[in-house]
Amino acid sequence: MNDLIQEMEIYAAENDIPIMQKEGIEFFKQLIQKYKIKSILEIGTAIGYSAIQLASLDSEIQIVSIERDEERYQRAVENVAKSQCGDQIKLVLADALECEIEGQFDCIFIDAAKAQYIRFFEKYKKNLNNDGLIVSDNLSFHGYVEHPELQMSRNLRQLVGKIKKYIDFLENNDEFETEFVKLGDGIAISRKKH
Ligand code: SAH
Ligand code: MG
Repeated sequence: MNDLIQEMEIYAAENDIPIMQKEGIEFFKQLIQKYKIKSILEIGTAIGYSAIQLASLDSEIQIVSIERDEERYQRAVENVAKSQCGDQIKLVLADALECEIEGQFDCIFIDAAKAQYIRFFEKYKKNLNNDGLIVSDNLSFHGYVEHPELQMSRNLRQLVGKIKKYIDFLENNDEFETEFVKLGDGIAISRKKH
C-alpha cells in the first residue's frame, strides 16, 4: 500500500497533477477519524490519491468520487484496483456540475476547478448529512490568495479573485459556519448551523 501511495506521489509530481499536499492530507485523515466519517463524496478524483488515502483509514468508509478528465479517471481506476480498498471507492467519470449523485454523505470534499467552488457547494450541500462536513481544499492557492502583491498573469489573478469570493461566501453564509485551517494549501471546514 505504501508503495502505491509513493508511486502516485511521484507520478503526480512528474505530471503536474495537483494532489493534496502531505500536511493537508494528514490533517484531513485526522478529521475523518475525529468525526467518525464513514461516507465521502469527493469532487475531483484526479488519479485517486486522496480517495485511496482516506478509504484506507477504515474498511467501513465508502467514497464516491467524480472526475471529468478521462485520462486521470483511467489512472484512478488502475490505482484503486491496485489498492486494498477497491470495494470502498466508486469512481464516476463526469462533470460534477452536470451529473446527479444520489444519497447522503458524512463529508463532501470539494477539490476540483477552483473557479467553480460556490457552484459545487450550492449543488451538493443537499447530499450532506445534517451533522456532516463540507471540506474545501486549496483556499490559499499556493500562497497567491494571501499575497496579492505577487506577480500574477491575468488568468491567475482572475482565479485568485474567484477563490476570494468563495472565502467571502463561506464567511458570510447563513446556513453554514466555517473554520479556515492554514495547513497544506489552505483548507476550509464547513458545517450546518443548528
Ligand atoms: N482530490 C485529488 C486531487 C484533485 S485535482 C487528490 O488530492 O488526490 C482536481 C481534479 O478535479 C482534476 O483532476 C480535474 O480534472 C478535476 N475537475 C475539475 N473540475 C471538475 C468538474 N467540474 N467535475 C469533475 N472533475 C473536475
Ligand atoms: Mg487540492
